[in-house]
Amino acid sequence: MTDYRPETRTVHVPHPVIEGSRPITVPIYQTSGFSFDDPETMADGMSRPDGPFSYGRYGNPTVRSLEQAVSGLEGGVAGVATGSGMGAINTVLLALLKPGDHLIAQRALYGGTAGMINKLVSRYGVEVSYVPEHDPTALRAAVRPETRLVYLETIANPMGQVADLPAMCGVARALGLISVVDNTFATPLLCRPIEHGADIVVHSTTKYLSGHTDVVGGMAVFADDALHREVWGFANELGPTPDPFAAWLSLRGMQTLALRMERHCANTRLLATRLAEHPSVTAVHWPGLPSHPSYEVAGKLLPDFGGVFAFDLAGGRPAGERFMRSVRLALVAPSLGGVETLILHPATTSHRSLSADELARHGIGEGTVRVAVGIEHAEDLWADFEQALT
Ligand SMILES: *Cc1c(COP(=O)(O)O)cnc(C)c1O
Repeated sequence: MTDYRPETRTVHVPHPVIEGSRPITVPIYQTSGFSFDDPETMADGMSRPDGPFSYGRYGNPTVRSLEQAVSGLEGGVAGVATGSGMGAINTVLLALLKPGDHLIAQRALYGGTAGMINKLVSRYGVEVSYVPEHDPTALRAAVRPETRLVYLETIANPMGQVADLPAMCGVARALGLISVVDNTFATPLLCRPIEHGADIVVHSTTKYLSGHTDVVGGMAVFADDALHREVWGFANELGPTPDPFAAWLSLRGMQTLALRMERHCANTRLLATRLAEHPSVTAVHWPGLPSHPSYEVAGKLLPDFGGVFAFDLAGGRPAGERFMRSVRLALVAPSLGGVETLILHPATTSHRSLSADELARHGIGEGTVRVAVGIEHAEDLWADFEQALT
Protein backbone atom coordinates (compact mmCIF):
# COMPACT_ATOMS: atom_id res chain seq x y z
CA MET A 1 0.00 0.00 0.00
CA THR A 2 2.88 2.37 0.74
CA ASP A 3 3.77 2.28 -3.01
CA TYR A 4 0.45 3.91 -3.88
CA ARG A 5 -0.28 7.62 -4.03
CA PRO A 6 -2.43 9.31 -1.31
CA GLU A 7 -5.52 9.32 -3.59
CA THR A 8 -5.37 5.53 -3.75
CA ARG A 9 -4.33 4.91 -0.14
CA THR A 10 -7.30 6.90 1.24
CA VAL A 11 -9.64 4.61 -0.75
CA HIS A 12 -7.97 1.26 0.03
CA VAL A 13 -7.68 1.39 3.82
CA PRO A 14 -6.17 -1.55 5.73
CA HIS A 15 -8.68 -4.05 7.16
CA PRO A 16 -8.13 -5.27 10.73
CA VAL A 17 -6.66 -8.76 11.02
CA ILE A 18 -7.67 -10.18 14.40
CA GLU A 19 -5.69 -13.12 15.75
CA GLY A 20 -5.66 -14.78 19.17
CA SER A 21 -9.06 -13.34 20.23
CA ARG A 22 -12.50 -12.56 18.84
CA PRO A 23 -15.23 -9.97 19.45
CA ILE A 24 -17.76 -10.96 22.13
CA THR A 25 -20.73 -9.27 20.45
CA VAL A 26 -21.60 -9.67 16.76
CA PRO A 27 -19.82 -6.91 14.79
CA ILE A 28 -21.80 -4.58 12.52
CA TYR A 29 -20.70 -5.42 8.97
CA GLN A 30 -21.63 -2.00 7.55
CA THR A 31 -20.77 -2.89 3.97
CA SER A 32 -23.03 -3.09 0.94
CA GLY A 33 -20.92 -5.74 -0.77
CA PHE A 34 -18.05 -8.23 -0.69
CA SER A 35 -15.05 -8.79 -2.95
CA PHE A 36 -13.79 -12.13 -4.27
CA ASP A 37 -10.59 -13.86 -5.29
CA ASP A 38 -12.32 -15.38 -8.33
CA PRO A 39 -15.55 -14.91 -10.32
CA GLU A 40 -16.84 -18.49 -9.73
CA THR A 41 -17.04 -17.89 -5.98
CA MET A 42 -18.94 -14.66 -6.64
CA ALA A 43 -21.43 -16.45 -8.92
CA ASP A 44 -21.86 -19.12 -6.26
CA GLY A 45 -22.57 -16.48 -3.60
CA MET A 46 -25.28 -14.88 -5.72
CA SER A 47 -27.03 -18.15 -6.53
CA ARG A 48 -27.85 -19.64 -3.10
CA PRO A 49 -28.85 -18.36 0.36
CA ASP A 50 -26.08 -20.28 2.16
CA GLY A 51 -23.23 -19.41 -0.22
CA PRO A 52 -20.48 -16.80 0.30
CA PHE A 53 -21.72 -13.25 1.01
CA SER A 54 -21.88 -11.21 -2.19
CA TYR A 55 -24.20 -8.20 -2.17
CA GLY A 56 -26.06 -6.64 0.76
CA ARG A 57 -29.51 -7.28 -0.70
CA TYR A 58 -28.70 -11.03 -0.86
CA GLY A 59 -27.20 -11.29 2.62
CA ASN A 60 -24.95 -9.72 5.24
CA PRO A 61 -23.11 -11.36 8.18
CA THR A 62 -24.79 -9.21 10.88
CA VAL A 63 -28.21 -9.78 9.30
CA ARG A 64 -27.42 -13.51 8.95
CA SER A 65 -26.63 -13.70 12.64
CA LEU A 66 -30.10 -12.28 13.45
CA GLU A 67 -31.71 -14.68 10.94
CA GLN A 68 -29.99 -17.65 12.56
CA ALA A 69 -30.81 -16.46 16.09
CA VAL A 70 -34.57 -16.07 15.44
CA SER A 71 -34.75 -19.18 13.25
CA GLY A 72 -32.99 -21.18 15.96
CA LEU A 73 -35.43 -19.98 18.64
CA GLU A 74 -38.40 -20.84 16.40
CA GLY A 75 -37.05 -24.28 15.48
CA GLY A 76 -36.84 -23.40 11.75
CA VAL A 77 -34.10 -24.17 9.23
CA ALA A 78 -33.40 -20.56 8.15
CA GLY A 79 -34.79 -17.03 8.18
CA VAL A 80 -35.13 -14.02 5.90
CA ALA A 81 -34.79 -10.71 7.78
CA THR A 82 -36.56 -7.62 6.45
CA GLY A 83 -36.72 -3.89 7.16
CA SER A 84 -40.14 -4.18 8.89
CA GLY A 85 -42.71 -6.73 9.98
CA MET A 86 -44.95 -5.76 7.04
CA GLY A 87 -41.89 -6.29 4.82
CA ALA A 88 -41.66 -9.90 6.03
CA ILE A 89 -45.41 -10.55 5.69
CA ASN A 90 -45.65 -9.03 2.22
CA THR A 91 -42.50 -10.78 0.99
CA VAL A 92 -43.96 -14.15 2.01
CA LEU A 93 -47.44 -13.47 0.56
CA LEU A 94 -46.15 -11.99 -2.72
CA ALA A 95 -43.55 -14.74 -3.14
CA LEU A 96 -46.05 -17.57 -2.70
CA LEU A 97 -49.35 -16.29 -4.18
CA LYS A 98 -50.21 -15.64 -7.82
CA PRO A 99 -53.42 -14.46 -9.56
CA GLY A 100 -56.20 -17.04 -9.21
CA ASP A 101 -54.82 -18.47 -5.96
CA HIS A 102 -57.11 -18.62 -2.92
CA LEU A 103 -55.97 -17.60 0.57
CA ILE A 104 -57.73 -18.43 3.84
CA ALA A 105 -57.05 -16.04 6.73
CA GLN A 106 -58.36 -15.73 10.26
CA ARG A 107 -60.88 -12.91 10.82
CA ALA A 108 -58.96 -11.07 13.55
CA LEU A 109 -55.86 -9.74 11.77
CA TYR A 110 -53.23 -7.06 12.35
CA GLY A 111 -54.42 -3.90 10.52
CA GLY A 112 -51.53 -3.72 8.05
CA THR A 113 -51.98 -7.37 7.13
CA ALA A 114 -55.74 -6.95 6.64
CA GLY A 115 -55.06 -3.95 4.36
CA MET A 116 -52.49 -5.87 2.31
CA ILE A 117 -54.81 -8.85 1.86
CA ASN A 118 -57.49 -6.43 0.53
CA LYS A 119 -54.94 -5.18 -2.02
CA LEU A 120 -53.97 -8.73 -3.02
CA VAL A 121 -57.67 -9.21 -3.80
CA SER A 122 -58.37 -5.88 -5.55
CA ARG A 123 -55.12 -5.53 -7.51
CA TYR A 124 -53.50 -8.94 -7.88
CA GLY A 125 -56.45 -11.30 -8.45
CA VAL A 126 -55.98 -13.36 -5.29
CA GLU A 127 -59.19 -14.60 -3.63
CA VAL A 128 -59.66 -14.68 0.11
CA SER A 129 -61.97 -16.33 2.66
CA TYR A 130 -62.04 -15.57 6.38
CA VAL A 131 -62.56 -18.14 9.15
CA PRO A 132 -62.44 -17.92 12.96
CA GLU A 133 -58.93 -18.65 14.32
CA HIS A 134 -60.15 -21.53 16.51
CA ASP A 135 -62.34 -23.43 14.00
CA PRO A 136 -60.69 -26.23 11.97
CA THR A 137 -64.10 -27.35 10.66
CA ALA A 138 -64.73 -23.90 9.15
CA LEU A 139 -61.21 -23.96 7.71
CA ARG A 140 -61.77 -27.35 6.07
CA ALA A 141 -65.10 -26.13 4.65
CA ALA A 142 -63.48 -23.01 3.14
CA VAL A 143 -60.82 -24.93 1.19
CA ARG A 144 -61.12 -24.91 -2.64
CA PRO A 145 -59.01 -26.50 -5.37
CA GLU A 146 -57.19 -23.14 -5.79
CA THR A 147 -56.43 -22.72 -2.06
CA ARG A 148 -52.70 -22.33 -1.52
CA LEU A 149 -52.11 -20.70 1.84
CA VAL A 150 -53.58 -20.37 5.36
CA TYR A 151 -52.71 -17.26 7.38
CA LEU A 152 -52.98 -17.15 11.22
CA GLU A 153 -51.78 -15.09 14.21
CA THR A 154 -50.82 -16.81 17.48
CA ILE A 155 -52.31 -14.00 19.60
CA ALA A 156 -54.41 -11.33 17.86
CA ASN A 157 -54.52 -7.57 18.42
CA PRO A 158 -56.11 -5.94 20.45
CA MET A 159 -58.60 -8.46 21.88
CA GLY A 160 -56.18 -11.36 22.40
CA GLN A 161 -57.87 -14.17 20.43
CA VAL A 162 -55.55 -17.20 20.39
CA ALA A 163 -55.39 -19.37 17.25
CA ASP A 164 -55.78 -23.13 17.72
CA LEU A 165 -52.49 -23.72 15.90
CA PRO A 166 -52.27 -27.54 16.27
CA ALA A 167 -55.81 -27.95 14.84
CA MET A 168 -55.58 -25.25 12.13
CA CYS A 169 -52.02 -26.06 10.95
CA GLY A 170 -52.97 -29.75 11.09
CA VAL A 171 -55.80 -29.22 8.59
CA ALA A 172 -53.50 -27.11 6.37
CA ARG A 173 -50.78 -29.77 6.38
CA ALA A 174 -53.21 -32.63 5.71
CA LEU A 175 -54.54 -30.77 2.64
CA GLY A 176 -51.12 -29.71 1.32
CA LEU A 177 -51.59 -25.99 2.07
CA ILE A 178 -48.82 -23.68 3.28
CA SER A 179 -49.54 -22.31 6.76
CA VAL A 180 -48.09 -18.94 7.78
CA VAL A 181 -48.29 -17.79 11.42
CA ASP A 182 -47.61 -14.26 12.72
CA ASN A 183 -45.96 -15.00 16.09
CA THR A 184 -45.17 -11.37 17.02
CA PHE A 185 -47.32 -11.20 20.18
CA ALA A 186 -46.30 -14.61 21.58
CA THR A 187 -42.59 -14.63 20.66
CA PRO A 188 -40.78 -17.99 20.42
CA LEU A 189 -40.58 -18.02 24.22
CA LEU A 190 -44.34 -18.53 24.57
CA CYS A 191 -45.02 -20.43 21.34
CA ARG A 192 -43.08 -22.01 18.47
CA PRO A 193 -45.68 -22.47 15.69
CA ILE A 194 -43.40 -24.77 13.65
CA GLU A 195 -43.69 -27.33 16.48
CA HIS A 196 -47.46 -27.20 15.88
CA GLY A 197 -47.21 -27.77 12.13
CA ALA A 198 -46.67 -24.25 10.70
CA ASP A 199 -44.54 -23.92 7.55
CA ILE A 200 -43.56 -20.25 7.93
CA VAL A 201 -43.45 -17.99 11.00
CA VAL A 202 -43.42 -14.21 10.53
CA HIS A 203 -42.48 -11.54 13.07
CA SER A 204 -42.47 -7.83 13.53
CA THR A 205 -39.08 -7.83 15.30
CA THR A 206 -39.90 -4.17 16.02
CA LYS A 207 -41.90 -5.44 19.00
CA TYR A 208 -40.78 -7.93 21.68
CA LEU A 209 -37.79 -9.47 19.86
CA SER A 210 -35.98 -6.10 19.71
CA GLY A 211 -37.85 -4.81 22.72
CA HIS A 212 -36.45 -1.30 23.19
CA THR A 213 -38.58 0.87 20.88
CA ASP A 214 -35.51 1.86 18.86
CA VAL A 215 -35.71 -0.16 15.64
CA VAL A 216 -38.22 -1.32 13.01
CA GLY A 217 -37.65 -4.80 11.58
CA GLY A 218 -39.20 -8.09 10.46
CA MET A 219 -38.38 -11.76 9.98
CA ALA A 220 -39.74 -14.79 8.18
CA VAL A 221 -38.63 -18.21 9.49
CA PHE A 222 -38.99 -21.38 7.41
CA ALA A 223 -39.63 -24.98 8.45
CA ASP A 224 -37.95 -26.32 5.31
CA ASP A 225 -35.19 -25.41 2.86
CA ALA A 226 -37.28 -25.37 -0.32
CA LEU A 227 -39.65 -22.64 0.96
CA HIS A 228 -36.69 -20.65 2.31
CA ARG A 229 -34.89 -20.77 -1.03
CA GLU A 230 -38.06 -19.73 -2.91
CA VAL A 231 -38.78 -16.73 -0.66
CA TRP A 232 -35.09 -15.74 -0.44
CA GLY A 233 -34.87 -15.66 -4.24
CA PHE A 234 -38.02 -13.53 -4.47
CA ALA A 235 -36.82 -11.19 -1.67
CA ASN A 236 -33.57 -10.55 -3.57
CA GLU A 237 -35.64 -8.99 -6.35
CA LEU A 238 -38.29 -7.35 -4.13
CA GLY A 239 -35.68 -5.70 -1.90
CA PRO A 240 -37.06 -5.55 1.69
CA THR A 241 -33.53 -5.94 3.13
CA PRO A 242 -32.78 -4.52 6.58
CA ASP A 243 -29.75 -2.34 7.31
CA PRO A 244 -26.97 -4.14 9.24
CA PHE A 245 -27.18 -1.60 12.06
CA ALA A 246 -30.92 -2.24 12.49
CA ALA A 247 -30.21 -5.98 12.56
CA TRP A 248 -27.53 -5.37 15.18
CA LEU A 249 -29.94 -3.39 17.39
CA SER A 250 -32.42 -6.29 17.18
CA LEU A 251 -29.72 -8.82 18.06
CA ARG A 252 -28.69 -6.78 21.09
CA GLY A 253 -32.27 -6.32 22.24
CA MET A 254 -33.03 -10.03 21.85
CA GLN A 255 -30.40 -11.02 24.40
CA THR A 256 -32.78 -9.97 27.20
CA LEU A 257 -35.97 -11.35 25.61
CA ALA A 258 -36.51 -14.10 28.20
CA LEU A 259 -36.19 -11.71 31.16
CA ARG A 260 -38.42 -9.11 29.54
CA MET A 261 -41.16 -11.58 28.57
CA GLU A 262 -41.34 -12.90 32.11
CA ARG A 263 -41.89 -9.37 33.42
CA HIS A 264 -44.28 -8.34 30.60
CA CYS A 265 -46.48 -11.37 31.37
CA ALA A 266 -46.36 -10.99 35.16
CA ASN A 267 -47.15 -7.25 35.02
CA THR A 268 -50.01 -7.91 32.62
CA ARG A 269 -51.49 -10.58 34.89
CA LEU A 270 -51.50 -8.15 37.83
CA LEU A 271 -53.03 -5.24 35.87
CA ALA A 272 -55.61 -7.40 34.07
CA THR A 273 -56.69 -9.15 37.29
CA ARG A 274 -57.04 -5.92 39.28
CA LEU A 275 -58.79 -4.02 36.45
CA ALA A 276 -61.31 -6.87 36.13
CA GLU A 277 -62.41 -6.07 39.70
CA HIS A 278 -62.47 -2.27 39.28
CA PRO A 279 -65.96 -0.66 39.34
CA SER A 280 -65.18 1.62 36.32
CA VAL A 281 -64.24 -1.37 34.14
CA THR A 282 -66.87 -3.55 32.45
CA ALA A 283 -64.60 -6.15 30.79
CA VAL A 284 -60.93 -7.11 30.46
CA HIS A 285 -59.71 -8.92 27.34
CA TRP A 286 -56.61 -11.08 28.00
CA PRO A 287 -56.45 -14.80 27.15
CA GLY A 288 -55.02 -15.54 30.61
CA LEU A 289 -58.37 -14.70 32.24
CA PRO A 290 -61.06 -17.43 32.53
CA SER A 291 -63.64 -14.96 31.11
CA HIS A 292 -61.77 -14.78 27.75
CA PRO A 293 -63.23 -16.82 24.85
CA SER A 294 -59.71 -18.15 24.04
CA TYR A 295 -58.91 -19.17 27.64
CA GLU A 296 -59.13 -22.92 26.93
CA VAL A 297 -57.20 -22.87 23.63
CA ALA A 298 -54.60 -20.55 25.19
CA GLY A 299 -54.17 -22.80 28.22
CA LYS A 300 -53.26 -25.74 25.97
CA LEU A 301 -50.96 -23.76 23.67
CA LEU A 302 -49.17 -21.20 25.84
CA PRO A 303 -47.28 -21.27 29.16
CA ASP A 304 -48.19 -17.57 29.68
CA PHE A 305 -50.32 -15.10 27.78
CA GLY A 306 -48.24 -12.12 26.69
CA GLY A 307 -48.04 -8.45 27.49
CA VAL A 308 -50.94 -6.89 25.54
CA PHE A 309 -54.50 -6.63 26.80
CA ALA A 310 -57.56 -4.43 26.35
CA PHE A 311 -60.23 -3.27 28.77
CA ASP A 312 -63.61 -1.57 28.44
CA LEU A 313 -64.50 1.50 30.48
CA ALA A 314 -68.08 1.84 31.72
CA GLY A 315 -68.18 5.48 30.62
CA GLY A 316 -67.65 4.78 26.89
CA ARG A 317 -65.81 7.21 24.59
CA PRO A 318 -65.58 10.15 27.07
CA ALA A 319 -64.19 7.82 29.74
CA GLY A 320 -61.65 6.45 27.26
CA GLU A 321 -60.53 9.96 26.30
CA ARG A 322 -60.33 10.98 29.96
CA PHE A 323 -58.22 7.94 30.83
CA MET A 324 -55.79 8.77 27.98
CA ARG A 325 -55.34 12.31 29.31
CA SER A 326 -55.00 11.22 32.95
CA VAL A 327 -52.20 8.64 32.86
CA ARG A 328 -48.83 9.97 33.98
CA LEU A 329 -46.46 7.00 33.70
CA ALA A 330 -47.92 5.06 30.76
CA LEU A 331 -47.30 6.77 27.43
CA VAL A 332 -50.04 7.33 24.85
CA ALA A 333 -48.48 5.83 21.73
CA PRO A 334 -48.84 3.22 18.99
CA SER A 335 -46.77 0.00 18.89
CA LEU A 336 -46.04 -2.52 21.63
CA GLY A 337 -43.39 -4.92 22.91
CA GLY A 338 -40.98 -2.30 24.25
CA VAL A 339 -39.85 -1.82 27.84
CA GLU A 340 -42.23 1.15 28.35
CA THR A 341 -45.97 0.75 28.98
CA LEU A 342 -47.93 2.23 26.05
CA ILE A 343 -51.68 2.76 25.84
CA LEU A 344 -54.03 3.74 23.06
CA HIS A 345 -57.75 4.37 22.67
CA PRO A 346 -58.79 2.83 19.33
CA ALA A 347 -62.14 4.72 19.11
CA THR A 348 -60.44 8.15 19.08
CA THR A 349 -57.11 7.24 17.42
CA SER A 350 -56.36 4.20 15.26
CA HIS A 351 -60.06 3.45 14.53
CA ARG A 352 -61.52 7.00 14.82
CA SER A 353 -63.15 6.89 11.37
CA LEU A 354 -65.36 3.92 12.34
CA SER A 355 -68.92 4.18 13.66
CA ALA A 356 -69.93 2.46 16.91
CA ASP A 357 -71.38 -0.41 14.83
CA GLU A 358 -68.19 -0.83 12.81
CA LEU A 359 -66.11 -0.71 15.98
CA ALA A 360 -68.30 -3.44 17.46
CA ARG A 361 -67.69 -5.60 14.36
CA HIS A 362 -63.95 -5.33 15.13
CA GLY A 363 -64.76 -6.37 18.72
CA ILE A 364 -63.74 -2.92 19.91
CA GLY A 365 -65.99 -0.79 22.13
CA GLU A 366 -66.09 3.04 22.34
CA GLY A 367 -64.61 2.75 25.82
CA THR A 368 -61.97 0.14 24.93
CA VAL A 369 -58.37 0.93 25.93
CA ARG A 370 -55.46 -1.17 24.63
CA VAL A 371 -52.47 -1.59 26.89
CA ALA A 372 -49.00 -2.81 25.85
CA VAL A 373 -47.53 -3.50 29.26
CA GLY A 374 -43.86 -2.64 29.84
CA ILE A 375 -41.33 -3.93 32.37
CA GLU A 376 -41.74 -1.18 35.00
CA HIS A 377 -42.59 -2.10 38.61
CA ALA A 378 -46.15 -3.47 38.50
CA GLU A 379 -47.27 -1.45 41.54
CA ASP A 380 -46.16 1.82 39.93
CA LEU A 381 -48.21 0.94 36.86
CA TRP A 382 -51.22 -0.01 38.99
CA ALA A 383 -50.99 3.25 40.94
CA ASP A 384 -50.94 5.17 37.65
CA PHE A 385 -53.97 3.31 36.26
CA GLU A 386 -55.88 3.67 39.52
CA GLN A 387 -55.38 7.45 39.71
CA ALA A 388 -56.31 7.78 36.02
CA LEU A 389 -59.56 5.86 36.64
CA THR A 390 -60.65 8.21 39.48
C1 LIG B 1 -46.52 -4.40 14.37
C2 LIG B 1 -47.05 -5.66 13.81
C3 LIG B 1 -46.89 -5.99 12.46
C4 LIG B 1 -46.21 -5.04 11.50
O1 LIG B 1 -44.86 -4.90 11.82
P1 LIG B 1 -44.02 -3.56 11.46
O2 LIG B 1 -42.67 -3.89 12.03
O3 LIG B 1 -44.72 -2.41 12.12
O4 LIG B 1 -44.01 -3.46 9.99
C5 LIG B 1 -47.38 -7.18 12.01
N1 LIG B 1 -48.02 -8.03 12.83
C6 LIG B 1 -48.21 -7.76 14.13
C7 LIG B 1 -48.94 -8.73 14.98
C8 LIG B 1 -47.73 -6.57 14.67
O5 LIG B 1 -47.94 -6.28 15.96
